[in-house]
Amino acid sequence: MSQPPTPERTSRIPDLVRSFRLEDLLTARQHSRDFTFYRSDYLLVRVKLFALLFGVATPLWLPVDMWLLPPESLAAMGGLRALTGFLFLLLALVGTRRRSLARARTALVGLIVIPALFYLASRIILGEEAMQGALVGYTFLPFVLLAGGALFPLTFLEGGGILVVVYLSVLAVGWHAGTLFTLPFLGTLWLLVLLSGIALWAQSAQLHMLLGLYRQATRDPLTGLFNRRALFRQGEAELARARRQGAPVSLLLLDIDRFKRINDHWGHRVGDAVLRHLADILQREFRAGDLPGRYGGEEFVVLAMGADYDGATALAERIRLAVADSPAPVPEGSLPYSVSIGVGSGRADEPLEELLQRADEALLQAKEAGRDRVVALAGTSSAPAPGWAADLSPSGGNG
Ligand code: GH3
Ligand code: MG
Ligand code: MG
Repeated sequence: MSQPPTPERTSRIPDLVRSFRLEDLLTARQHSRDFTFYRSDYLLVRVKLFALLFGVATPLWLPVDMWLLPPESLAAMGGLRALTGFLFLLLALVGTRRRSLARARTALVGLIVIPALFYLASRIILGEEAMQGALVGYTFLPFVLLAGGALFPLTFLEGGGILVVVYLSVLAVGWHAGTLFTLPFLGTLWLLVLLSGIALWAQSAQLHMLLGLYRQATRDPLTGLFNRRALFRQGEAELARARRQGAPVSLLLLDIDRFKRINDHWGHRVGDAVLRHLADILQREFRAGDLPGRYGGEEFVVLAMGADYDGATALAERIRLAVADSPAPVPEGSLPYSVSIGVGSGRADEPLEELLQRADEALLQAKEAGRDRVVALAGTSSAPAPGWAADLSPSGGNG
C-alpha cells in the first residue's frame, strides 16, 4: 500500500443527496423506471379509491335532489347522476387495471373529466337562477376538483394538465350562462387561481416526499448505488421485459480483494472511501440500461442487460483494469486495491437466482485462482461452451 504525497479528500456526496433535481418536480422524464412504476401504482390505487367512492356517492345523492330540485329537472338530474356513477365505477374497475404511468395519467384525467362534465351538464339542466338559491352546492364542484387533485403526487406539468380541465369546464359554464365578464365570475376565477397555486404546491410537495422516501428505501447510503432489494426487484422487472426476445444477459459479482486487511490496517473510514471509489467506477463504466448495485459489505453486483458472454467478460475486465489503474483517494493519500469479478452469463428467460449462482461460482474460482481477475461462466444455452470458464487475468492460472 503506497501513500503518494498529494492528500486528496474524496468523500463524494452519495447519489442519495446529489441526485435531487428540481427538474424531477417539473416532469417525470428523468424519473427512474422503477420509481415511475411505483408512483403509477400509488396514483392508480388512489384513483380507484376515489372513483369507487364517487361511483357510489353520486347516485346516492338523488334523495337530496328530490328534496331540493324543481320537479321538472328531477328526471334529467336522475339520469345524469346514474350515468356519472356508472362512468366512475367503470373507471374504478376497468380504467385502473394495467400498471403504467400512461394508464395512471389517463385514469386521473378520467377522474377529473367525469365530474367536470357532470358539473357542465348539471348547470345546463338546472339553469343559472336555480344556482343562486338552495343549489349553491353545485357551484362548488370546480373547487372540489382542485382540492381532490391536490391529494396526488404529481409533477408541475401533470398538475397543470388537471388545471386545464378544471378551467375549461368553468369557462364553458361561464360562456354558456353568459356571465364570463361579470364581477362574480371574475371573483370565482380569482379564488380558483389561489387554490390552483396551493394545489400545485401540495402535489409537488407530495412528489418530493415520495421521491425522497423512494430514494431512502432503494439506495445504499454509503455509495448511493441501488441496495440489494431494489436491485433485485428492478432486475426481475428488466428480465421480464427482455424475456420475450430471449436476449442475452449477464450478472457481474464483484468482491474487493483482502478488504478486511484494508479495514484492519487503515480503519473503517478508509475502507468506506474505497467502497465509494469502486461505486464511482461502476457508475462511470456502465451504460444507462445496466443496473449496478451494492450487494452487501464489499460486494457489488451489476446486471448487464443485453451483454452476452464476450461482452460481459470484456466489461468486467474493463472494470478490473479501471480499479487497478486508479488507486482509491483516501484521506491519507491514495490506496491501491484490486477486485475479483465473477461473471454469470445467460439469457433473460433464466431466473435471476441462477445467474447469481453462476456468478458466485465464478467469483469463488477467481478468488481461488489468486484474486485480481475475471472469471466468466456461461449457461448451458449460451456461447461459447457449457460451463466453460475464461480466466483473463494478466498472470492467468493459479496465483
Ligand atoms: P477476500 O479477498 O477473500 O474477499 O477477503 P476479504 O477480506 O475482502 O473478505 P471478507 O469477507 O473476509 O471481509 C469483508 C470485510 O468487509 C469484513 C467487513 O469488516 C468489511 N465491511 C463490510 N461492510 C463494510 C462497510 O460498509 N464499510 C467498511 N469499511 N467495511 C465493511
Ligand atoms: Mg466478500
Ligand atoms: Mg473481499
